[in-house]
Amino acid sequence: MIKIMNKKVAFYTLGCKLNFSETSTIARSFNSEGFDRVDFSEKADIYVINTCSVTENADKRFKTIVKQAQKANPDAFVAAVGCYAQLKPQELADVHGVDLVLGATEKFKITDYLNDLSKNDFGEVHSCEIEDADFYVGSYSIGDRTRAFLKVQDGCDYKCTYCTIPLARGISRSDTVANVLKNAQEISKQNIKEIVLTGVNIGDYGKGEFGNKKHEHTFLDLVTELDQVEGIERLRISSIEPNLLKNETIDLVSKSRAFVPHFHIPLQSGSNAILKKMKRRYMRELYVDRVEKIKDVMPHACIGVDVIVGFPGETDEEFLETYNFLTELDISYLHVFTYSERDNTEAATMEGGVPNNVRSKRSKMLRGLSVKKRRAFYESQLKTKRTVLFESENKEGFIHGFTENYIKVKTPWNPELINTLHQVELTEIDADGLVRFEFDKLFMN
Ligand code: SF4
Repeated sequence: MIKIMNKKVAFYTLGCKLNFSETSTIARSFNSEGFDRVDFSEKADIYVINTCSVTENADKRFKTIVKQAQKANPDAFVAAVGCYAQLKPQELADVHGVDLVLGATEKFKITDYLNDLSKNDFGEVHSCEIEDADFYVGSYSIGDRTRAFLKVQDGCDYKCTYCTIPLARGISRSDTVANVLKNAQEISKQNIKEIVLTGVNIGDYGKGEFGNKKHEHTFLDLVTELDQVEGIERLRISSIEPNLLKNETIDLVSKSRAFVPHFHIPLQSGSNAILKKMKRRYMRELYVDRVEKIKDVMPHACIGVDVIVGFPGETDEEFLETYNFLTELDISYLHVFTYSERDNTEAATMEGGVPNNVRSKRSKMLRGLSVKKRRAFYESQLKTKRTVLFESENKEGFIHGFTENYIKVKTPWNPELINTLHQVELTEIDADGLVRFEFDKLFMN
């Protein structure tokens, strides 16, 4: 493509951390072609929307974002990439104002498709069979100037019956340790203090490109190597399947220099019957065992849980099994998802659909439980000394930060705190559920 000077591009990202890291890589490719990046609300020549298939009402959200782009500049070129663009390319191409839709193999080559930025009467689609998306493109993004999302793995070989991700992102494949280390070093040179490892199924790290089932390294090798990279203050594992979270990894985190005591482990249901229908690869007993192992070696660890309510056939008793299971378990917060049918999944063809009002009621109950769990965890950590990394936003006169074990703290706004680490003593929980603290004078920097 011929270098385009003085053209402006804007990005909108829906969905997960992985999408955010990939938007950054796509943005860097625009940058090297001479584009200037502007905010999505500003006038740009091209708007790129990185879509998600998990987003509720994905189609409505997408249409609203396209309208937003057209309002900012009715003559701008609009392109869609990402999971939804792979799953439903024609549906996106038919949305008024969309000029280009790229599937999973094409999204990183987007600038090759931009020789002519004149608007089309209809959206042009360049999609692919998902089997062709078997190569790996490394990515990382720098979010709020304090933390970066580093992609280490893509795709998934599991067949959970509710999930469309394997159809949108293809087989499990991962970056080499050498590349991940190189990216981590690049990030640390930009004065970023925390790196969050992301992927679709990061515990499955170790599969190579083009269906090559093994690479020379495992997830444990990866975390061991990363822990030694100088200049990275904190490393966080974003989300890891319980059956892939090995004792060795937990032990390594407990003794680690940089890995923080925070795990996010999808459970999805506390009922073994539902776990079977979901084709998850563990039973609830294994989940208990993982939580106990973590708490045994790191009593102060924060454990987050993903859970789905209203899966087809979930009875009141099965839901209560989940509720009671989570009540008993020593975990710190929940991310609650209300089940919704997705095309081309096995679950969408199952009998026993749960009425929407019941799904909402169950979701509300678990969200209430999450508030209680978080508060109990925060309370258990009062009077302890922790390290806080401060973020960059001024929210109504306060600055926020997170401890290594993911406790959200607040203190009056002070721009000097941005992107700095401080030792604190946690003192109290305030009215909005966040934790106040005192700076530890011994460690003031
Ligand atoms: S592990 Fe299951 S839920 Fe997660 S991406 Fe793979 S198929 Fe989807």
